[in-house]
Amino acid sequence: MSSERGVMDTSPAPLHMIDLIRKKRDGHALKTSEIDFIVAGASSESIPVEQLSAWLMATWLNGLSIDETRALAVAMRDSGEKFDPSRLGRAAVDKHSTGGVGDKTSFLVAPIAAACGVAVPMISGRALGHTGGTLDKLDSIPGFRSALSLAEFEAVVERCGAAIVSQTPSLVPADRVLYALRDRTGTVENPGLICASILSKKLAAGLNALVLDVKTGSGAFLRKRADAEFLASLMVTTAEGAGTRTVALMTDMGQPLGRTAGNWIEVAECVELLRGGTPDGNDDLRELSLRLAGWMIHLGGKTETAELGYWAAAGALADGTALKVFLEMIEAQGGDVSVFDNLKAVHKPGATLVLEAWETGYIAEMNTMELGWAVQRLGAGRAKAGEPVDPHAGVEFHARRGAHVRKGQPLATLYATSAEMLSEPVARINRAIRFSDERPEEVPLVSQIFWRENAESYLRDAVR
Ligand code: URA
Repeated sequence: MSSERGVMDTSPAPLHMIDLIRKKRDGHALKTSEIDFIVAGASSESIPVEQLSAWLMATWLNGLSIDETRALAVAMRDSGEKFDPSRLGRAAVDKHSTGGVGDKTSFLVAPIAAACGVAVPMISGRALGHTGGTLDKLDSIPGFRSALSLAEFEAVVERCGAAIVSQTPSLVPADRVLYALRDRTGTVENPGLICASILSKKLAAGLNALVLDVKTGSGAFLRKRADAEFLASLMVTTAEGAGTRTVALMTDMGQPLGRTAGNWIEVAECVELLRGGTPDGNDDLRELSLRLAGWMIHLGGKTETAELGYWAAAGALADGTALKVFLEMIEAQGGDVSVFDNLKAVHKPGATLVLEAWETGYIAEMNTMELGWAVQRLGAGRAKAGEPVDPHAGVEFHARRGAHVRKGQPLATLYATSAEMLSEPVARINRAIRFSDERPEEVPLVSQIFWRENAESYLRDAVR
């Protein structure tokens, strides 16, 4: 093509979203410039929602290559302002989970790691699919604000050692748009999309190190073990490639984590733990939080090994310093900490039902994705984008996988927005739990750890 003056025009041809949708639909990889175009259009909301949705579905169906995943994570990271931890005077370290049911470790690991001397600038998400969202849980604390400006975010981390904030129009705006759209279009469970979504937030926080909690089992987005291993290796390799020291712990999501799944009840469970309580049924929550925090403390340069980090974390939990950081952080973000004085008094569900065991036997299996949907349908999650969630809705589990229960014994207490909302969750829980005469095999809480070298070699083998 030549310009009016007869000189060859070498400027790149303009991109059109329809061409990129068709290219992805037909199974071709997009170039970095094409991914940049989509991310820019998503952040500025200039690409129509139906086109972004079509591209997401084409991507979900055909997958992203490793190069496309890296390009997407970086473009999303760069879609807004970035946190600069350099003036904090301590390493910035965070953890992120790929999502689960009752997965509330953020409320524990952030203050524990901060109490042990690392900074934790955490950018989190809302409920996604069948899983709960850290921000929705925090919203159950009256006054709490997660949509902080970058300056406010930096000030809270500097003062308290930790802050938990949302993506905003200025912080990772591309993830804010794409995350909500994936939730509405059935395009969550894809390794490349999950990897880019998580890492965009983590890399925008300027982290020195990152600990990933990659879930496996019936409540994970990627239920097949090989898919979860691929995701773990992909995230470690991509984050390391972007200059962040990263490990991924593969952890069990074959049952809800801890005793509760919902919004306020999860915050309350963590406050109990931070106060030193270890009520029956949340040993796994305590243990996993200490393991994750131990790695954060180690990668943040505070201990020689992750095991020593674990013991430092246990100390901060036992001596109340983690609780102190938690309360300071909540208060600094506008939350009313007096609600923690009486955790039960604040909990006012519209309807409550105690579900009894319908058989005698061992709890052999908990289909945790089904349980997660039960929790969401009680009112803890959204049926439509932008809907408010009920802070009081959720489930308290009275028995765990492997427990022997008698018919008629309380199995779970359901908290709903209204009595009419109880029947679907009850049916889902009925479907989700399987009893057996035989005790099921124990499943390890942490089954595998990926770091740069073994993640890279795993990926090399996987794509060969
Ligand atoms: N958590 C995220 O932040 N993004 C995902 O896609 C899944 C879990």
